[in-house]
Amino acid sequence: MELTEIKKFIATNNIKPDDFIYHTWRDIEEDGVSKGKIRILVLKKDNIARTEFICPSCGKHGYKEKEWERPFSIKCDCGNTIKVPKLKDQAKREMKSRKD
Ligand SMILES: [Zn+2]
Repeated sequence: MELTEIKKFIATNNIKPDDFIYHTWRDIEEDGVSKGKIRILVLKKDNIARTEFICPSCGKHGYKEKEWERPFSIKCDCGNTIKVPKLKDQAKREMKSRKD
């Protein structure tokens, strides 16, 4: 399953890089296996995190909006809290797996 809501939002509202303060799109991995996805877009004008995800716990595709804050997490309807994976951790793991 792919994430399409935020893509659509960006196209429909003609969002430019200058319009947002944060935009990320990451795989959620467990033990090096991709289990889910999260994409977050925060616009300068409202500070709302538009969050689209595939829950790593139940596999459901979801879209939620909440006020942007760090550290950021969002709750799936199944009760699972989805956190934004740190890029540093992913990079470290990638380096480690290359060595192995
Ligand atoms: Zn879930």
